[in-house]
Amino acid sequence: MSLISFASASSSVFITPTVRSFTSRRSNYTVMSAVRSESPSTCPVLTKFQRDCATPKPFLRKVADAISDDMRAGLAVQGGGDLDMILTFVDALPSGKEEGLFYALDLGGTNFRVRSVELGGKEKRVVAAESEQLSIPHELMIGTSEQLFGFIASKLADFVAKEKPGQFPLEQGRKREIGFTFSFPVYQTSIDSGTLIKWTKGFHVSGMEGKNVVACLNEAMEAHGLDMRVSALVNDGVGTLAGARYWDEDVMVGVILGTGTNACYVEQKSAIPKLQNKSSSGTTVINTEWGGFSKILPRTIFDQEMDKESLNPGEHLYEKMISGMYLGEIVRRVLLQMCKTSDLFGQFVPVKLSSPFALRTEDLCKMQEDNTDDLMSVGSFLYNFLEVEANLKARRRVVEVCDTVVKRGGRLAGAGIVAILEKIENETKRMASGQRTVVAIDGALYEKYPQYRRYMQDSLVELLGHDLASHVVIKHTKDVSGLGAALLAATNSIY
Ligand code: ADP
Ligand code: MG
Repeated sequence: MSLISFASASSSVFITPTVRSFTSRRSNYTVMSAVRSESPSTCPVLTKFQRDCATPKPFLRKVADAISDDMRAGLAVQGGGDLDMILTFVDALPSGKEEGLFYALDLGGTNFRVRSVELGGKEKRVVAAESEQLSIPHELMIGTSEQLFGFIASKLADFVAKEKPGQFPLEQGRKREIGFTFSFPVYQTSIDSGTLIKWTKGFHVSGMEGKNVVACLNEAMEAHGLDMRVSALVNDGVGTLAGARYWDEDVMVGVILGTGTNACYVEQKSAIPKLQNKSSSGTTVINTEWGGFSKILPRTIFDQEMDKESLNPGEHLYEKMISGMYLGEIVRRVLLQMCKTSDLFGQFVPVKLSSPFALRTEDLCKMQEDNTDDLMSVGSFLYNFLEVEANLKARRRVVEVCDTVVKRGGRLAGAGIVAILEKIENETKRMASGQRTVVAIDGALYEKYPQYRRYMQDSLVELLGHDLASHVVIKHTKDVSGLGAALLAATNSIY
């Protein structure tokens, strides 16, 4: 069997930036070769940054072990470690037999999605599905809970109003059941209730911490006259795990690598001391909230400053190093420093580089897609974005900064996956007995950033070793979390 097999993600599309008047100095061969012979790492800020970001194998091993330790500590007692290790109350994952019309609602980052799914059982599977995606207006991310949930309920009402009669008409008196994917740390109290622990990923809605998020949504739906109820509250990791399991029974882990990050996995109940007197046989899904891991990470001055200015300083440091919301911002901070102290663009300090979050992770990806010798596309991007004519040396330095941040992020994400796989392996010896173990990953960062995927893959093989790695399949499962949430609403239907 081959090493970790990576089910291919859809290839990313390279959108060439509009070239206004950026020109390379192709004609001046002498200048060009002189520039090429100079290492891009001779810049002191960059050299130090690269050193501070290094993740050699022994260090990655320590990170994986520290994550495992915090997983165990969090399973022992609530709050025992950085990872919350939340009980999800999902003991049964989808089997394929689910039938009927169910809904899914996904709130957790840049976008908000509504779907309906008609499930036709083992043979027919998904008979029909509809979905709609909307972005969350920024003011609602930092407004009140009434505003946020009112907006969601009104969009849900619009979605249901457009519905044509389907194969599964609702019986009289029966409410439509929703799987609510709410991808923020929640202390789950049952499959259909949970209180918000804290906001992450730039959300800061007032008056919500400690409140039951399902009650907030149910109230808003009632106010909009909707005949709907939440039957399963999950996060996107659990949704991804459930949705992927519907198609492949070897899926044991669901990972999100998008705006934020998280991972969920199937755990033996006997390995969860904090379950106390509840049944200790069988398995249950644990939501690790691994983004909260904050120990021994290679934090540079740029990470520290970004963290200090964030909405949740001192928290979710792993998320701030590996997820899409932050990679571009770290690069921006390094580039700004390089402009100020190392003459990255001569004496010129582009105004836009001072603007927080102006550089997006998508932009890093776009620049890293340029594999030509003269980095013309990088030059065009910098020209359009910063209005600077960057020479080849500067263009190469910019790409090196991107690569440094993405390499660290991908490798640390790999170490987290290894921590979970080794935990499962300790409990079950499934890989040692030759069984395949599938990690389902969703999120645009993983999907669209090939370098990130490659660095992640490298660190997985480095840490697991070839033997164990040969039984691991990393599957990109795009958008299955909505299906997973709808399936869990079906599994936990009250009717
Ligand atoms: P969410 O996590 O909000 O549910 P996604 O999974 O779509 O949403 O992830 C969006 C994040 O993925 C963006 O914030 C961005 O950081 C990252 N991303 C989106 N497109 C790309 C891209 N082309 N290359 C790299 N990262 C990307
Ligand atoms: Mg998502």
